[in-house]
Amino acid sequence: MRERLLQYLSCPACAGAITLASAKREGEEIIEGELSCTSCARSWPIARGVPRFASIEEVEGDKAATAAGFGWQWTHFTQTDAKYEEQFLGWIAPVAPEFFQGKVVLEGGCGKGRHTQLAAQWGARDVIGIDLSAAVETAFGATRHLTNAHIVQADIYNLPFRRTFDYAFSVGVLHHLPDPRSGFISLASRVKPGGHLSAWVYGAENNEWITRWVDPLRNRLTSRMNPRVLLQLSKIPAAIVFLATKLVYGPLNASASGARLARHLFYNDYLKAIAGFGWREQHTIVFDHLVAPTAFYIPREDFTGWWREASEVDISWHNRNSWRGFGRMR
Ligand SMILES: [Zn+2]
Repeated sequence: MRERLLQYLSCPACAGAITLASAKREGEEIIEGELSCTSCARSWPIARGVPRFASIEEVEGDKAATAAGFGWQWTHFTQTDAKYEEQFLGWIAPVAPEFFQGKVVLEGGCGKGRHTQLAAQWGARDVIGIDLSAAVETAFGATRHLTNAHIVQADIYNLPFRRTFDYAFSVGVLHHLPDPRSGFISLASRVKPGGHLSAWVYGAENNEWITRWVDPLRNRLTSRMNPRVLLQLSKIPAAIVFLATKLVYGPLNASASGARLARHLFYNDYLKAIAGFGWREQHTIVFDHLVAPTAFYIPREDFTGWWREASEVDISWHNRNSWRGFGRMR
């Protein structure tokens, strides 16, 4: 961590100020050290460059299992795909890269840090990515060259920050929490009045086939498997998706006459959207759906209800299988 992160921190237990009690540095970067609260005397370690406000050992049940599953995945899959930028902008639309200029930004659930990295490159004054899992190790490595990017290991329900952010976003994370709405409310509570928030979640609508056929398999079998075994097994469904997108959905949607036909195909909007991805990325997506112990598919009505604290909100349907919201907070 860099010392400038301190201005945004506050004690997750008592909201007191946080100071640096000890530090071992490598240039600007504090690699090992300790943070402590000036009011309640709680303290937290900084290890391998990352402040640790939560460790998986302290987190209960499914939340820890979700973090562990994704953490393993994100230290294993380290590919970067040129499509990430486009995909990220799809999830946070109508937000464009210019929006990040000069803003203080929080990402709720940063995984291996690819969005934190983009936000920093797009000119955020500072961007902080939090994650509960061991993926913070990868995220720190991916962002340490960016002076305005910061990675913190923390629980989204218990954020160690002041209400200081101009913009917060969370993509693909809230639906994996035991209580997605509480995670959203917690994130929103750190956005300054008049600041903005984006969230993207799996939708219930159009995903009935997943809740009906994939979910029971995920709950009873795949989320309990050794991730290394699941990684190999998931190549079978991934190969089916890969062949379908490369041989059918991609080519058909490339022409106007084909697209008219493709409209009638199963899950066309989404499969068209991922048709440009390579094998590893598509395999990651399939693995993702099988590894998580918790996954909620959220109806529009419920998602809309989350935004009561917003003065304006724009909710839209993404790839006809998920909801994205962008709101201005009161
Ligand atoms: Zn405190």
